[in-house]
Amino acid sequence: MKAIRVKEFGGPEVLKLEEVPDLKAGAGQVVVRVRAIGVNPVETYVRAGVYPRKPALPYTPGTDAAGTVEGVGAGVTRFRAGDRVYTATTLSGAYAEQALCDAALVFPLPAHVSFAQGAAMHIPYATAFRALFHRAQAQGGETVLIHGASGGVGVAAVQLARAAGLHVIGTAGSDRGKQLVTAEGAHQVLDHKSANHFEEALAATGGRGYDIILEMLANVNLGRDIPILAPKGRVVVIGNRGTVEINARDIMTRDGAVLAMSLWNATPSELTSIHAALVAGLENRSLRPIVGQEIPLAEVARAHVAVMDSGAYGKIVLVP
Ligand code: NAP
Repeated sequence: MKAIRVKEFGGPEVLKLEEVPDLKAGAGQVVVRVRAIGVNPVETYVRAGVYPRKPALPYTPGTDAAGTVEGVGAGVTRFRAGDRVYTATTLSGAYAEQALCDAALVFPLPAHVSFAQGAAMHIPYATAFRALFHRAQAQGGETVLIHGASGGVGVAAVQLARAAGLHVIGTAGSDRGKQLVTAEGAHQVLDHKSANHFEEALAATGGRGYDIILEMLANVNLGRDIPILAPKGRVVVIGNRGTVEINARDIMTRDGAVLAMSLWNATPSELTSIHAALVAGLENRSLRPIVGQEIPLAEVARAHVAVMDSGAYGKIVLVP
């Protein structure tokens, strides 16, 4: 089979398509014939060698794939060959024609959900779910600002928050992105490229502030997020690409909280629980992953450039 291999950390050019041996499922494992692969920003940081978690070289990137079950190992009873599935991490890397997975972290893909949509599930939706419900303890009736709502995690958060009865304000940096955020359920959309969007964001709550802010770019926004929190409001830092100055008094005066999360910290049992909820959301169609671009696996370097560009529109997916 073909797989992307990275032999040295560096720019997108270190991603090479190569012929590698076929995979075989061991006990408790599943081999998935991959039909679509989700591209996440973290895969660019890991490839560049700037992420705290560094895989041993050479490696195949990626955690999020969807396809059909090709083989199951001893003891696997949840799946059989031909089942449509998506993965929530892989043992072998998702940027490939086959992926070896722990069967516990493979989930069924309902018939009406495309493989490309399945590949858009794990990192974006599990992150949005964990940030909203595990970290921020979101409750129906609360107001949430999804700061960066047009990308993979943001669209997932809009759909999840809306389905849970929150009042949702989302931001995007392009007209197309703003239309997407509105179409996916935000009650109001703002442009995070506009200099006064924090004032507009506060006005959108009638001056009360936000119970929750999900922050995709904390190094730019955190210092201005905290002053627009409501009493007992909490920010959850999801994305951050540098340092930021905050005034801790802004947290103190409102009994606020600055929380943060990394999906890597979710335990296997948390992931199993989160994905049970996500599969239910796919089944009842409250979750509808948005695929903005499909790119051939051989052009993966182009996907790694595109995922870091502005003007996000849902997910970028690779097709083997
Ligand atoms: P993505 O699909 O590339 O989307 C990025 C989002 O950030 C877009 O909505 C983009 O909007 C928005 N953005 C750009 N400039 C912004 C600004 N100044 N203020 C607010 N938002 C801004 O990426 P993603 O997969 O959704 O991930 C979002 C971030 O979370 C990334 O940094 C990623 O590494 C991180 N992340 C962290 C975890 C974790 O476990 N903590 C998990 C997943 C992702 P426009 O392009 O429309 O401007």
